[in-house]
Amino acid sequence: MRATPTRRALLFGLLGGAASAATGCADLGVSSVSNAGTTSPPRSAEIQGGAVPQPPLLPPPPPDPATLIARHAGAVPHEWGPAVTGTRTRLAAPGPRMALTFDGCGGPRGSAVDPDLIALLEREHLAATLFLNARWIDANRELTDRLAANPLLELANHGTMHLPLSVSGRSAYGIAGTASVTEVIDEVMVNHQRLQSITGVPPRWFRPGTAHCDEVAAAVVRDLGEEVVGFTVNGDSGASMPAAKVQDALTSAAPGSIVIAHLNRPLGATAEGLAAALPALRAQGREFVTLGGAGALT
Ligand SMILES: [Zn+2]
Repeated sequence: MRATPTRRALLFGLLGGAASAATGCADLGVSSVSNAGTTSPPRSAEIQGGAVPQPPLLPPPPPDPATLIARHAGAVPHEWGPAVTGTRTRLAAPGPRMALTFDGCGGPRGSAVDPDLIALLEREHLAATLFLNARWIDANRELTDRLAANPLLELANHGTMHLPLSVSGRSAYGIAGTASVTEVIDEVMVNHQRLQSITGVPPRWFRPGTAHCDEVAAAVVRDLGEEVVGFTVNGDSGASMPAAKVQDALTSAAPGSIVIAHLNRPLGATAEGLAAALPALRAQGREFVTLGGAGALT
């Protein structure tokens, strides 16, 4: 059955035995399609900022779990996937901006580091948002501190156990999702607190494991002070794409795209593809921004 005892233990920050849901990043299976147009149009007032991340706006303290659970009790989700109502899948304003996002999924098969990608981001002074899972952080704490100290990089929440975010136990790619509002809160807030302890500010963006969620869970995330972020373009299919396809995905991305790729697959060709795409992207006038720097949330 489900790993309920393990998840309940997360309320107390006990991450030992986290292997129960450690299937690596099942973002791998997400098809390389654009999600453009599947969510509500962004508000034009959200357009602000530039390539350099701005100090995050501090949200109000999240309501206590009992209040949240009561608020969403009985809500029945009708949507499921990487682009449900209440999620962001592209930047608020197209312009020349593009957001590179890289996931560190954690778990026994997902906690490695692509050193070529990290070196590329640092060498080329690229702005990017890094969605880090709690288990990846625990396996790479010194590197996480280094990434947090880079003003061009923004750390975001990729969950505690890398679970699809459901209030009813929906699954994605064979991974059982959270099954209640309480479990959604656990999945978000344990890593929320871990990231805040590292960066000093609460994370603003959440990407579920497998990138799947339902719209009720997305609303819970918003109540917790974060916002679910999907993607416009699948940049590496879980780092399974050859470099040429990564390059093609990047150079053909529409302005305003949020690109999902991975930083935890050293055997993949994500770094090589990004490096190959950079000259064309710069010739196109693309401006790399973090999600916070893009002003996607105001
Ligand atoms: Zn992932």
